[in-house]
This record gives sequence, C-alpha cells and structure tokens, in this order.
Amino acid sequence: MGKIIKISGPLIVADGMQDVKMYDVVRVSGKGLIGEVIELRGDRASIQVYEETSMLGTGEPVTSTEQPLSVELGPGLIGGIYDGIQRPLEALAAISGDRIDRGVSAPAIDRKKKWAFVPTVKKGDNVIAGDVIGTVKENEVVEHRITVPFGIGGVIEKISSGEFTVEQVVAVVSDGKVKHDVTMLQRWPVRKGRPYAEKLPPIEPLITGQRVVDTLFPIARGGVAAVPGPFGSGKTVLQHALAKWSDADIIVYVGCGERGNEMTDVLNEFPELIDPKTGQPLMKRTVLIANTSDMPVAAREASIYTGITIAEYYRDMGYSVAIMADSTSRWAEALREMSGRLQEMPGEEGYPAYLSSRLAEFYERAGSVKILGSTERVGSVTAIGAVSPPGGDMSEPVSQATLRIVKVYWGLSSALAYKRHFPAIDWLVSYSLYSDRLADWFTRNVDAQFTAYRTEISKILQEEARLDEIVRLVGMDALSPRDRLTMEAAKSVREDYLHQNSFHEVDTYTSLKKQFKMLKLIVDFYFQALRALDRGVSVNAILKLPCREQIGRAKYVVESDISALDGIHADMTRELAELKKEDE
Ligand code: ADP
Ligand code: MG
Repeated sequence: MGKIIKISGPLIVADGMQDVKMYDVVRVSGKGLIGEVIELRGDRASIQVYEETSMLGTGEPVTSTEQPLSVELGPGLIGGIYDGIQRPLEALAAISGDRIDRGVSAPAIDRKKKWAFVPTVKKGDNVIAGDVIGTVKENEVVEHRITVPFGIGGVIEKISSGEFTVEQVVAVVSDGKVKHDVTMLQRWPVRKGRPYAEKLPPIEPLITGQRVVDTLFPIARGGVAAVPGPFGSGKTVLQHALAKWSDADIIVYVGCGERGNEMTDVLNEFPELIDPKTGQPLMKRTVLIANTSDMPVAAREASIYTGITIAEYYRDMGYSVAIMADSTSRWAEALREMSGRLQEMPGEEGYPAYLSSRLAEFYERAGSVKILGSTERVGSVTAIGAVSPPGGDMSEPVSQATLRIVKVYWGLSSALAYKRHFPAIDWLVSYSLYSDRLADWFTRNVDAQFTAYRTEISKILQEEARLDEIVRLVGMDALSPRDRLTMEAAKSVREDYLHQNSFHEVDTYTSLKKQFKMLKLIVDFYFQALRALDRGVSVNAILKLPCREQIGRAKYVVESDISALDGIHADMTRELAELKKEDE
C-alpha cells in the first residue's frame, strides 16, 4: 500500500508503490476512487484518477487492485449507457457527473439478471478459444454468442441449458490437467486489442444511406474514416446519421467530451429511434459511452479504449460493428493534459510525442478479421472518428496524425455549412481509398453501371470547379452553352443529390437502389441535354423543362415507391426528345 505525496488535478503521485505494474488499477484514499498507474519511477507511481480529486489530501492511502483497467463483457451490454470506464449511467441526470458518487463502482453488467442459455455444443466436444458454445437472446435484435475465453481450450466436460446469471457456470472445459469453469462474463484489459486469426482485406462497403458517403466516398466494413471539420460544420449530425442508418449489426457510440448538451441530445434521441430494418428501437443494437467535457479528463482518455474493446467483443461473435468517436480531438486534449501534468517533454502544440502512435493504436483495432476458433467466421469493426481542429486549421497535430492513418476522409467545410449545404463534405478535398476495391461490389450488388455514373458526377463536379474560375474572371456570360449546361448539371448534383437533410423523414436515408436511380436521373439528363444542344436546342429551353423540378424532388420519394423514379426518367427522356431546334 502506498501514500499520496502530490495531487495535481486528475493526476496524483504516490510513493511506496514498488509492487504495482504500469496500467494497474488502484483505489485511492478511503473513498476508493478509481485510478490507473500511468508512470512508474522507483517506488513512485503517477496515477490518473477517473474521478474528481479535489477532496483528496497527501498521506491518504493508495492500494493496487493488481489488475489493468478492464471492461466487463457479457449479455446486457447492448442498450447500456456507460461512462468512460464503463460505469453505467442510469439516468440522463447522471450525465452532469454529480449523480455518480465518488468511489462507487456499480457493476457494468447486471449480476442478478438471468439469461436463457442455449448450448450449441455438447459434452465431449472439442473446443478452442473463440468457439461459440451457446447463445443467449440479448434482446429481440441481438443474439449474444457465448465463446470460449482466450487462453482456454479442451473437451467440454459439462454444459447446461437454462436460466443463468452472468456469474454462474454454464460449461466446464477440461484441457486434461485443469477444469475451467466458463461463465457468460468475461473481462478484458481495454488497452489491449482482442486477438483474431487474420486480418482480411476490406471488400464490402458499410452502407450508410448517406448519398455523398455511399456514392462518392464509401467506407468499407472494417475500414477507418475521419470526419474533420470546424465547429458547427456538421460532424455530430453526420456521426448520428451513421449510427442510425449504417447497416452494421452493432453500434458503439463514444461521445467523447463534446459539449454537454450534445451528449444529452444523444441520450434523449437514441432511445426514441426506430431501426428501419428491424422495426425495433435502435438502442437494441447500440452501446453508448458518454463523456461530456465536464466529466473527469482521465475518464475521457479511457473512453475510446472502453468503446473499441466492446466493439471487438461483438466482432468476435461474428458481427459487423461500427464505432463512432465524437470527437477524437477532445480525447487528444485529455491525453495532452495528462502528459502536461506528468511533465513529459511536449511535442507539437503541447501534445505528447506519442500522440500519433496512440491514435494509430486505436484505429488499428478496426478491421475485418477472421475470428479465432475452429470454424471459419468473419467479423468486423469499422471506426469513424470526428476531428475538431481549433479554428478549422487542418495543419494542427491531431488532424495531421489522423490523416496519416485513416483511409477515408470526409472533410467538412465551413463554407458549405455556411451555405447550409449539408452534409458539408467537401467533394473536392475528400477521398476514400476503398473506392476502387469496392467498385466490384457495387457492380455486382447495385448495378453494373454504378461506378460509371459515380465517375460521371465526380467529373461534373471537377469541371464545375474549373469553370467557376473562369466565371470569376470573366463572368457567366462568357460560358458556352455547353459549359452552362455543365454548370447546371453540377448544381443539380450538389443540390438534388449530395445535399441531404438529416432531419427530413424521407431524405435522411437513401437506399443504394434509390441512389442509383437518382444518379441516373441527374447524369442522363445532362447527357441527353447535351445531345439536344447538339441538335440546336437552346439552353434556356432545356432548363425550363418541367422534369427538372421532378428531378429535384426525387430525393423525397419514399423507398416503397422508388419505381416512380423510372417514371420521372421516362418523362425526362420524352421532354428532351420533343424539344425542337431553336429556329423551327
Ligand atoms: P459540429 O459537431 O461539427 O460542431 P453539428 O453536427 O452540431 O456540428 O452541426 C451543426 C448544425 O448544422 C446542426 O445543428 C444542424 O442545424 C446543421 N446540420 C449539420 N448537418 C446537417 C444535415 N445533414 N442536415 C441538416 N442540418 C444539418
Ligand atoms: Mg459536434
């Protein structure tokens, strides 16, 4: 047992700590505040404390739990709302932090609740770590698969079906020497990635229903993406849209130190949302981790590890999991604050030199993987981090470090947000390094022409950027009729396609089928209009056609009625074909 010799905000130093290890969890003072050893020098330990430290004094005791910071994994996680070290936040009011009494460690997973365990293996079967031995219906949406914990394997000596709490033994696995009791509860140290058999190349998109994302800058299942953007550019709205609509099996949403009311919004809004695919509340596939800026800085630092460990756990059941972190900048600031208090040598803008490696460690835990176990199964974790550079300056360290890691970059622009073009993803600077790999999937699953149409709208947008320069120099009148049409087509791409209102009942989500039909309307209009122009039709006559209005309204056509878009396409083709040469 050690004693506190120094207190500096969330950091304390204790001596007499020769027996602890790095990253051990300790209990501080008689109140039992939770802390983690983050530096060891001789018998002195620097400890980041996950709770308010203002009442502590020197001389108070510090005891080691001899365990690293870990999360509890088992049935009952889904629908849970936790803080950064997985303490359940029962009610909204708890978000303020004052409802959580200091030193309290409520179990993350209910110890009393019983779950109906259904074995999937039988006595005498051989199992290895990662194998599913039974299932539990966690709720109407999620089947929780109970696996053999890592480090254990052998013959099933006993397996029971029936109602069990997470601490009761459901199976006994014998490795010849030792009999291992298996329960439905596992623990895992958050700073260590859970093992897997093999990383797989990303070949399938995570469908988000967000047109600019799916069509122009798609993310692969198991991929990594960043959403950088200044304050108010729409990072949080986009993250919410992805959490709501992406076709992952499980969502882990880490609200990482953004404004308090943003997290309150999440906690208010998520429980109300209905999953369009299951008709069930979205919370039935979601785990929320909430850290507002007024909660202890150290807990914020831990929250993304807690989040990704839970994500990996569901990946290991064979699920496609998506984790959103909003915002990683707030997380990095927590890292900076702790580093400053440790008096480490500061790097750029005061961030520690290990900022990039810590960020990389987080994103590297994403991926599509072959799971451990004796049967071949695949699971994935897709990671999407918001970055909020101060003043929108992308040259700052967190943005730069993130950019070197991620494969998808959805750059939000304040200029677009100012014009109320949402999502404010700047198509000229954003990219997806998965596009080429995923093209084949779109060809097979959406339409053979999908990639060709996608390429066309990119070209139209590039062309607009070039023409914009000319217009700025010599005015719109200097443009040829052809270029005017291109400018109009680009406007249509921006307004009728890329612009998507997250708060509109229908517009908030667009299926890939509908995306393709919309693309076809906009691009085919452009090409047919160009042909009309070649026949001698005037630009003004083309732009006056009634079908243009219909194209603009295509996004509001409900999914169950998308064949109406074929009707619009037919009208459009007819209207353009009927246009006569100017002087006729
Ligand atoms: P940030 O998290 O980057 O600070 P927010 O996500 O809070 O920004 O967005 C700021 C505001 O922009 C929102 O309150 C909303 O009014 C508007 N907004 C952002 N994205 C959209 C969208 N897709 N559809 C409609 N409005 C949006
Ligand atoms: Mg935000």
